[in-house]
Amino acid sequence: MAKILLLNCGSSSIKYQLLDPAVGEPEAVGIVQRIGEEVSTIDHKVAGQKFHEELPLPDHSIGVAKVVKMFEQHGPSIDDVAAVGHRAVHGGMEFVEPTVITDEVVQRMRQLIPLAPLHNPPGIAGIEGAQKVFPGVPHVAVFDTAFFANMPEEAYTYAIDRHIAERWAIRRYGFHGTSHQYVAGKTAEFLGQPLSELRLITAHIGNGASMTAIEHGRPIDTSMGMTPLEGLVMGTRSGDIDPGLFTYLVRTGMSVGDVDRMLNKSAGLQGLAGHTDMRDINHACERGDERAILALAVYCRRIVKYVGSYLALMGGADALVFTAGVGENSRGVRAEVVRRLAGMGFTLDAEANECSIDEPTIISAPDSKVKVLVVPTNEELAMAQQVEALVASL
Ligand code: ADP
Repeated sequence: MAKILLLNCGSSSIKYQLLDPAVGEPEAVGIVQRIGEEVSTIDHKVAGQKFHEELPLPDHSIGVAKVVKMFEQHGPSIDDVAAVGHRAVHGGMEFVEPTVITDEVVQRMRQLIPLAPLHNPPGIAGIEGAQKVFPGVPHVAVFDTAFFANMPEEAYTYAIDRHIAERWAIRRYGFHGTSHQYVAGKTAEFLGQPLSELRLITAHIGNGASMTAIEHGRPIDTSMGMTPLEGLVMGTRSGDIDPGLFTYLVRTGMSVGDVDRMLNKSAGLQGLAGHTDMRDINHACERGDERAILALAVYCRRIVKYVGSYLALMGGADALVFTAGVGENSRGVRAEVVRRLAGMGFTLDAEANECSIDEPTIISAPDSKVKVLVVPTNEELAMAQQVEALVASL
C-alpha cells in the first residue's frame, strides 16, 4: 500500500486527498478555506462522515498543520504516507516533469512567481508547511504546465518581438496538463486503440476551461497561453480578447490592476450574465433571460472555433472529448457544441448525451465523422500516479 497525500494550495484554500493510486478512490478528502481571514474553515470527509471546524488559520503553513491534526483526530492514519504530492500551477520552462522538491527546487519555483503571481506563492507556502509536518517523506511537485513542454515551437511562440519574449520568458505554456494527459490516456484505453495512433481534441471545461489538440499522444496546441486567461470563455475569465482592449481601458483611466481583475474575476459568464455556474446560466436561459442566452452562445461558439482550428491543424480528428464540471455534466453545452459542428460531420446520439455519465461514454451517433465522448477527469488520481512512479524510481 502506497498512500499519497495530495495538496492543492490556492490563494486562500488548501484542497487535500489521501489516496492509494492502486485503489483509486480517496480514503479521505478535505478543504481548508478562507485562509488568512478572521475565521477559516476546514471540512474533512472520511468513510462517509463529515467533520467541520471553524478557527483562525493565518497562513498556509498553519493550514497544513491543521490538516494533519484532522487526520490524527478523525483518521485515517497518515503514518504510512509514502509521499506528498503538490499541485504546482506554473512550471515555466524550468519544470517539464514531476520533480522531487529540494531547497534548490523551491528556490527555482520562487523565481517563477512573476509568471504566476496568484498561484505560485500559495503553492510554495503549502510546500514549506508540509515539509515541516512531513519531514521524512519525499515531496513531489506536479506541474500543470509540464504536459505542454514539448509542444511544437510554432505552437508556443507568440508573434511579438523575440528579444522581449526571451527576456521575459513569454510563450504559450498551457495549463490543466495533468487532466488533458489523463483524459487522453483514458480515451485511448476506452476506445481500445493506442494513443500513438489517435488525434484527439480534449475539452477540459470546468470553471477554468481549456482545450488541447493531441496528435499521437503529443499536445500540438492548447488554448491557454502564458497565463490561464487565454482561450475559452470561462466562469469568470474572458478567454481570447483583443489585447488592445487592455491598453484602451488603461487609457480611459482604469488601473492595470483593475483591468487584470476584470478580465480574470468578473468577465466570462459572470461578466456576460451575472452567474459563473453553468447550472445558473441554464436556469436563466430557461426563464428567457436574454443576457444568459447570449452568454451561452458566446461560450459555445468559442469552443466550436477551437474545435475547428484543431481539426484544421491535425487534418481531422478521431475524437472530441468533454471533461471537467461542465464537460461531464452539462448536456446542453455538449448538445449545442455538437449541433454547431454538424457541417463538419458531427452528429449526436441524443439519448446517450442525456444519461448521467460517470465513466467514459460515447455520445456521438454511429455515423458521426468524429466520435464525441465524455471521459470524467481525475486530476488527483493522475497526480498520485505520477508521484508514485517518480518515488518508485528514486
Ligand atoms: P474547477 O475549474 O473549479 O476545477 P470544475 O471542473 O469542478 O471546476 O467545474 C465546476 C463547474 O462545473 C461549475 O462552475 C459549473 O459551471 C459546472 N457544473 C457542475 N455541475 C453541473 C451540472 N450538473 N450542470 C451544468 N454544469 C455543471
